[in-house]
Amino acid sequence: MNIHEHQAKEILKEFGAPVSNGVVILTIDEIDKEIKKLNSKEYVVKAQIHAGGRGKAGGVKLVKNIEELHTEAKKMMGKILVTHQTGPEGKEVKRLYIEEASNIAKEFYLSCLIDRESSKIAFISSTEGGMDIEKVASKNPEKILTTKIELKKDGPSESEIEKILSVFKFNSDQTKTTKKLIKSLYRIIVEKDASLIEINPLIVTKENKIICLDAKMNFDDNAIFRRPEILKLRDLNEEDSAEIEASKYDLAYIKLNGSIGCMVNGAGLAMATMDIIKLYGKEPANFLDVGGGATKEKVAAAFKLILSDKNVKGILINIFGGIMRCDVLAQGVIDAAKEINLSVPLVVRLAGTNVKEGKEILEKSKLKILSASDLNDAAKKIVEAIN
Ligand code: ADP
Ligand code: MG
Repeated sequence: MNIHEHQAKEILKEFGAPVSNGVVILTIDEIDKEIKKLNSKEYVVKAQIHAGGRGKAGGVKLVKNIEELHTEAKKMMGKILVTHQTGPEGKEVKRLYIEEASNIAKEFYLSCLIDRESSKIAFISSTEGGMDIEKVASKNPEKILTTKIELKKDGPSESEIEKILSVFKFNSDQTKTTKKLIKSLYRIIVEKDASLIEINPLIVTKENKIICLDAKMNFDDNAIFRRPEILKLRDLNEEDSAEIEASKYDLAYIKLNGSIGCMVNGAGLAMATMDIIKLYGKEPANFLDVGGGATKEKVAAAFKLILSDKNVKGILINIFGGIMRCDVLAQGVIDAAKEINLSVPLVVRLAGTNVKEGKEILEKSKLKILSASDLNDAAKKIVEAIN
C-alpha cells in the first residue's frame, strides 16, 4: 500500500526525522486558515498523488507570497497531472501539501527497503539526489551505494551506518543528524511494516541543516492487518477502481494494458498464461489469480471484473483444479455471464479436480465457449478468435 508524501512525512516526524512544516488542504478555501500554522515567507505547493516525478510535471511550485500561493494552488487543484510514473492517463490532484520553502544547497538520495533477494534490509545512498535515481543507476551506477544489513533487534551497527553515509561527506553536525535519520528509517521499516522508504531529495540547506524534502513510503499489504493506523491512511482515490473491487473479494488482480482478459488460479500459472499470450503475439489485459479454494461468488466477481475492462477483446480461463474445483469455476462463470451480456470470445481450459462436471456445466449453458486441451492450444485459440 502506498501513502501520500504528507502522510509519510508525519510518520518521519513521529520517528524523529527532520522534515519541514507543512499543511495539507483538500479545498482552496482552507488555504488562509491553514497557512497561519506555518512560519515562512515562501512556500512550496505540492500536488499529493501517489506518483513521483511531480516536479518536472508542474506538480511542485515555489511561491514567494500568499497571492502567488493562491494562484498556483488554484491551478494545481483538480488538474490531471501526468508524470513519468502516472502513465499517460495521469492522476487527478485532489489534495495539496503546502510546505515551508527550503534554501537548498545540495540534494542527496537516501532510501531504505526490504531486499527480498538477500532477505536483508538495504540502504541506498547517493550524492545524485533530486533526479531520477533509475537514470543514475543505469548511467552512473558507481554513484550509488547499496548497503545491505541483517535484520536485527538493535538496528544497524555504527560501522554500517558510517558506510551508508560515507558517500555524503557531511560535516559532523550533519553526520549526527543523518545517523539518527538512518536509525529512524530502519525503525519505520520494522515497526510499521514498511517495505520502502525513499527520501529524494534529502537536502542540505544553505544554513547547513539536513531535511527530508520528499518522502515516499510503501507498506507490505500482507502485514497491514496488524497496522490499523497505516490502513487508515489508505486513499482509495489513488487506486484503480477494479483493483479496489478485487480486494473486496480477496482476488489478486492487477490491470494491464493488453486485450486478453485472463482468469487463472495460482500466481505461477497466471504468469505462465501471460507469457504464452505474449508468445502468440498479444498482450494480457490483466493478471488475475482467483486463488485456491475460490467460491462461485468469487469466480463470478472475477469474471465481471475482467469484463469491466473496456480493452478486453477476449477472455482466456485457465484453471488447474487442485483445491479449486472445476465445477465451482464453471458455475461462477455462468452466473456472471447471465448478469452480463458476454460479447467477446471465451476460451476455457480446465484440468484437474471435477473437470468432467465442470465441462458438463459449461456445455449445458448456452454460452459460446471454445474449449482448449492445453495451455498452448488455449492461447492459440483465443488469439485466433480475437484476430
Ligand atoms: P517529485 O519527486 O515528485 O518530483 P519532490 O518533492 O522531490 O517531488 O520535489 C521536486 C523538487 O522540488 C525537489 O527536488 C526540490 O528541488 C524542490 N522542492 C520540493 N520541496 C521543496 C521545498 N519544501 N522547498 C524548496 N524546494 C522544494
Ligand atoms: Mg522527489
